[in-house]
Amino acid sequence: MKVGRDSMVRFHYDLSDENGQALESSREGDGLAILYGHRNIIRGLDDALFGHESGDRFQVTVPPELGYGMHQPGLKERVSKKHLVSKGKPQAGETVVIKIKGNARQARVLKVGGSVVDVDLNHAMAGQTLVFDIEILEVRPATTEELAHGHAHSPGGHAH
Ligand code: ZN
Repeated sequence: MKVGRDSMVRFHYDLSDENGQALESSREGDGLAILYGHRNIIRGLDDALFGHESGDRFQVTVPPELGYGMHQPGLKERVSKKHLVSKGKPQAGETVVIKIKGNARQARVLKVGGSVVDVDLNHAMAGQTLVFDIEILEVRPATTEELAHGHAHSPGGHAH
């Protein structure tokens, strides 16, 4: 079966930047499982998976505009510490999760004050060209439940 809309695809990836510096890998786990065509992953990777089958190995280079976006200087904000989900004292340079009005998102801490933190809301990989080495492990039709939830339930997918 080939990867297409409403298929469940599970794959390994090794991610590096354009200089070959390793950033992330799925090799220690079961791979990443996604429900295809539901924007579970960045656009450039989503596009590249289409039509592939189990066993395929390939490399894809994703520019920032199809990845985590360009780095936006205006995405700095001062937020109350009560919005931090992460435990412990925030440190400058650290990535934290902020939850405001039920929406959680990642941010990088720029400066820590008494009751507030200054954060940069750009994704840590914003502005970067990303190189993925992909190995497709499994492709199957999504289950009704997966389609209802909008994500995969395989190992490496969403945990309930
Ligand atoms: Zn679910």
